[in-house]
Amino acid sequence: TRKFFVGGNWKMNGDFASVDGIVTFLNQSADNASVDVVVAPPAPYLAYAKSHLKAGVLVAAQNCYKVPKGAFTGEISPAMIKDLGLEWVILGHSERRHVFGETDALIAEKTVHALESGIKVIFCIGEKLEEREAGQTKDVNFRQLQAIVDKGVSWDNIVVAYEPVWAIGTGKTASPEQAQEVHEWIREFLKEKVSPAVADSTRIIYGGSVTADNAAELGKKADIDGFLVGGASLKPDFVKIINARS
Ligand code: 13P
Repeated sequence: TRKFFVGGNWKMNGDFASVDGIVTFLNQSADNASVDVVVAPPAPYLAYAKSHLKAGVLVAAQNCYKVPKGAFTGEISPAMIKDLGLEWVILGHSERRHVFGETDALIAEKTVHALESGIKVIFCIGEKLEEREAGQTKDVNFRQLQAIVDKGVSWDNIVVAYEPVWAIGTGKTASPEQAQEVHEWIREFLKEKVSPAVADSTRIIYGGSVTADNAAELGKKADIDGFLVGGASLKPDFVKIINARS
C-alpha cells in the first residue's frame, strides 16, 4: 500500500513572521503516522524552517539545478539541499515550466542529478487548459513522464504530482473523477513503460486548488495518493488536508 503524501508548496510567499505562524500550526498538529508531510518554503527560509519544525514534518526545496556547484548565479544544488539536512526537492512545477521556460529535457537532467545526489523528487506534470480542450491531456502528461523514463531513473525516490495547469491557483479544482482519470492513465503508463511493481508502489498526488473542503472527496479515489497544495498550505486548514483521509 502507498503511504498518503501531502506536500505544501509555499511558492514565493512569506517572511520570518509568516514562517513562524506556519511552523506553529504544524508543530501543534497531532502526529499522523499514516501520512508523509513535506513543506517547501522559499530557499531563504529552508534552514530556518528545518530547524524549527518538528521531526514529523519534512522540508523540501522548490527547485534545484542539475550540477553540484559552479558559476550558475541564482541557482541552488542538490548538494546544498542535502547539506541543509533536507531530503526532498520539487522539480518540473508548472510555474518552472511555463513562467521560466524549463523544458522536459532540463527537468529530466535535474531529476537525474537530484536522485544521484540522494535527494528525493516530487516530479510535477500537467496539461494546460488549451491542451485539455484539444484532447491532448494524455499526450502531454505522458510526454512529460517519458522524459525521465528515457533516463532510466530509479522510481523508489520519486513522487509524481499531477497538477493540471488550469487548476493551479484558479479555484477550479479538477473534479475527483477528472483527477482519478488522469491518475489512472499515469499508473497505466508506469506499468507499461517501467514495470507493474513501480506502477503499484509509486505515489501519484494531485495538485491544483486543493482545499480543506475538497480534499476528502479527492482523497477517496483509488489512484490519488495525496496532494501538492499551494495557497491552502499557508493556512491552518492545511492540517485538515493532511488528515483528509484519516
Ligand atoms: P494551488 O493549491 O494554490 O492551486 O497551487 C497548487 C500548486 O501549484 C502546488 O504546487
